[in-house]
Amino acid sequence: MQKFDNNLKNIVIAFDIGGTNMRVGFVESSTIISRTTISTLPENGIENAAERLSEVALKNPLMSSSNIVGIGVSTAGPINPKTGVYNHPPNLHGWHNKTMKPLLKKNLDLPVWIGHDATLAALAETRIGRHKGTKNLIYVTISTGVGGGIIADGEMVTGATGGAGEVGHILVRSDGINCNVDCTGCFEGNASGPAIKKLALSKIKEGRKTILHKNKSEEIESITPEAVILASIKGDKFSEEIIMTVIENIAQGLSSLLNIFEPEALIVGGGVMKGLKHRWGEIVKLVISTALPRYRTGAPIYITEMGDDIGILGATQLVYKNLYG
Ligand SMILES: [Zn+2]
Repeated sequence: MQKFDNNLKNIVIAFDIGGTNMRVGFVESSTIISRTTISTLPENGIENAAERLSEVALKNPLMSSSNIVGIGVSTAGPINPKTGVYNHPPNLHGWHNKTMKPLLKKNLDLPVWIGHDATLAALAETRIGRHKGTKNLIYVTISTGVGGGIIADGEMVTGATGGAGEVGHILVRSDGINCNVDCTGCFEGNASGPAIKKLALSKIKEGRKTILHKNKSEEIESITPEAVILASIKGDKFSEEIIMTVIENIAQGLSSLLNIFEPEALIVGGGVMKGLKHRWGEIVKLVISTALPRYRTGAPIYITEMGDDIGILGATQLVYKNLYG
């Protein structure tokens, strides 16, 4: 292992790949020196995405620096972190059994490390920011899906082939709705953005009144999770019932994770959590009352403070971990 040199700038080129957007960052320690966002366009293929990422990096004046130490990639999965090969990624259609590792390495002439976005988010939380130094930490993202990253005894828990951390499919409501992969009552199926929409549509079918639509079918189909959250803030009883159910589901999911892992910190991020930030106090109270008695006096759960930068910061920490430990 090389020694981390504080006098040198240890710059990392960090890529954050999601189903819709890809972000490119030049990062030094926890400082993002430059960031660019481009569309992922997964339908154009993984090679095309890798070429466009390389192009953005090569155009950056920082590329001429001799202090770039490596490339880190944080990506939607599932992905095998050892090989960087995708395994049927639901939001990156056509990328199954493929990796962008060799192409990035060839184009940019730097070593490449790849990891699953939620796992790297957890890694970033343990190495920089408020939870720096924690050895046992869970990161949960509640967004279009619900995913998780696990750090145990300071190490990333990735499973046999990179499939660990799918906390979205633990049971939170036995009479709940099904998720995309058809398990009943799971965290993702009952607390994600699409779940909020599904709950709204099923209530409308029951004939319930709401300010969300004026009975036009196209309006009903275009209801968004954001609109439901906003309507609940405006006092719409229909929407408030949905949000209350979602809050209970989130609390149940987080309680189970605390019970199983006993982390020093359980961090929550993602778009739905961002939208429900104003209800965090209620979520904490529910977790304290539903988790094991050891949490009655308080639960170590927090909202992430890294926002949208967490992917780039996680990718950077993956490079540092591999180079400097
Ligand atoms: Zn599920």
